[in-house]
Amino acid sequence: MKSYDAMVIGGGPAGLTAMLYLLRAGVDALLVEKLSPGGQVLMTEEIENYPGFPKGIKGFELADLFAAQIDRYPHDRIMDEVSEIRPGQGAHVVRVGPETIEAKTVILCSGARYRKLDIPGERELAGRGVSYCALCDGNFFRDKVVAVIGGGNSALEESLYLARLVRRLHLVHRRDEFRGERYLQDKCFANPKIEVLRSSVPREIVGQGEVSGLVIEDLKSGERRTLEVDGCFIFVGFEPILEFAPPEIKRDAVGIITDSEMNTSVPGIFAAGDVRSKNCRQVVTAVGDGATAASSAFAYLEKLNVS
Ligand code: NAP
Repeated sequence: MKSYDAMVIGGGPAGLTAMLYLLRAGVDALLVEKLSPGGQVLMTEEIENYPGFPKGIKGFELADLFAAQIDRYPHDRIMDEVSEIRPGQGAHVVRVGPETIEAKTVILCSGARYRKLDIPGERELAGRGVSYCALCDGNFFRDKVVAVIGGGNSALEESLYLARLVRRLHLVHRRDEFRGERYLQDKCFANPKIEVLRSSVPREIVGQGEVSGLVIEDLKSGERRTLEVDGCFIFVGFEPILEFAPPEIKRDAVGIITDSEMNTSVPGIFAAGDVRSKNCRQVVTAVGDGATAASSAFAYLEKLNVS
């Protein structure tokens, strides 16, 4: 069985930073990533709030820079899915694709996936007008009419991106107040292509084979109406990816519970980035989590080697 001092699961900003810190500390670390490194950053057109890039940076460019930085240090990398982690005293046993690998410490950086609305039509019309990624699918909706659902930073940012392509955009939010940053709100409200629909809850996505409408309910009047749209972009938050995490690891509704040093409830297993239960989910906080988790993992390994 292959054996490493540390295994980092997930190659988004948290995982790549954890790798950088482990490799620079001379730790024999393995990176396991399902697809290509970058995580959600790859699906973000422009990142404007990562320090050091005053003019903003494309998501894929930042991901490339993160990956290039760890490539300066020799390390092993596996592109496959983790299906199980069995915690142990001196080492944890991890099932990666067909392989079983041992690691003295594991850092979980598996991130989060898009939350679904769970309304009729959403599943049936996924990929036929229902999308969770403006950067991936926006181009299919050039000069068309779309609805964007959500009131957080993602919905606002993606609306601004889509407004450059589409003819008209309905921004549908279930409350009057938006959760996203004021700066993004102001930009959306000032955009002539964006119609903001407040207190409006999506009830059904309709269409024969492809999306033709979104049924919304006005919470104040109780009225239902159908917006005629060619596409529905859904940005209603994320849920952590932690199916493979051992049941011993404590979690709450929004992620794995850690202390400020990224320790989980299982000694030698750490968590960093969006998989963690926390409020501020940003590239910059993921990077901070990754560095902290690596430093805690390093301290754990030192103790293990002494005892
Ligand atoms: P979010 O901040 O959790 O916002 C989700 C939005 O979807 C909320 O407005 C919520 O409404 C709405 N929503 C949730 N469930 C819904 C439902 N069933 N029906 C209708 N609406 C629903 O998620 P996010 O915007 O994806 O952002 C996730 C994290 O990433 C946040 O921490 C965010 O700050 C961060 N992020 C940051 C940036 C940036 O800094 N540039 C960009 C993207 C994301 P309520 O407000 O009523 O709850």
